[in-house]
Amino acid sequence: MVGASVTIDELFSEGYDAVYIGVGAGLPRFMDLPGENLIGIYSANEYLTRTNLMKGYLFPEYDTPIARGKNVVVLGAGNVAMDSARTAMRLGADSVKVVYRRSREEMPARAEELHHAEEEKIEFVLLTNPTQFFGDANGRLTGMECLKMELGEPDASGRRRPVPVEGSEFRIDCDLVVVSVGSNANPLLTNSTPDIALTRWGNIIGDPVTGKTSKRGVWAGGDIVTGMATVILAMGAGRAAANSMHDYLTLGW
Ligand SMILES: Cc1cc2nc3c(=O)[nH]c(=O)nc-3n(C[C@H](O)[C@H](O)[C@H](O)COP(=O)(O)OP(=O)(O)OC[C@H]3O[C@@H](n4cnc5c(N)ncnc54)[C@H](O)[C@@H]3O)c2cc1C
Repeated sequence: MVGASVTIDELFSEGYDAVYIGVGAGLPRFMDLPGENLIGIYSANEYLTRTNLMKGYLFPEYDTPIARGKNVVVLGAGNVAMDSARTAMRLGADSVKVVYRRSREEMPARAEELHHAEEEKIEFVLLTNPTQFFGDANGRLTGMECLKMELGEPDASGRRRPVPVEGSEFRIDCDLVVVSVGSNANPLLTNSTPDIALTRWGNIIGDPVTGKTSKRGVWAGGDIVTGMATVILAMGAGRAAANSMHDYLTLGW
């Protein structure tokens, strides 16, 4: 792990002349709600990694256990939320609800992803935001409280701001929640390299054309620069940085 077992400066002392950072944005965001650490609440990262990469869907043939909820709620409405919802359905759920605080129009997932989710009988519960989670005496999730929302004026993102409807609390019973509200930059490497300039969200500031960072000999690209984006953008950033690194190694910084 660069940043833990070796630092960027140690890589330079070992004889490397140029370093490209592509550590992604793999630090899941949570909602900071009461009860969010109950058993049965996963981040989408953990849920999908356990199920797919670590083959939890083949448990016990493979060692990774994964909770198979019957009444599943996915929080968020991006592509990763749709992946999580469809995964839960394929793991045998009776019902999977995607709970999202804005309307269908603002759902950030691609239209195809929404369409595919609906084809697999995923239910969209729109204009709804969770406020707390409930558990039983053993700390296992049993449900969540939600508030209905309505849309107000556009906020900084240009999308209409969801405003809570007073007194509209209601309960959704569920035994599994997947929190899929985005990921932040992983701070492990950047914390150990204080001379690389970051945005206020902890993403590395890379030159948009070359990927050069504020630290001589260091380039960065992909999600650690852009925030969670796409494979094709990350690949493009890698290629642009490779060209710029070649220039550096042959012509100088
Ligand atoms: C569930 C999910 C579904 C997605 N679906 C799509 C899709 O359909 N299409 C699409 O285009 N994009 C999709 N994306 C987004 C896409 O995966 C990312 O935009 C892309 O992978 C970013 O590439 P990257 O190289 O910047 O980072 P990553 O692919 O995240 O790779 C970062 C790598 O760095 C490693 N790492 C992290 N920290 C360190 C460290 N300190 N030292 C050493 N190694 C480290 C990580 O283990 C990881 O292997 C999806 C993302 C998720 C989470």
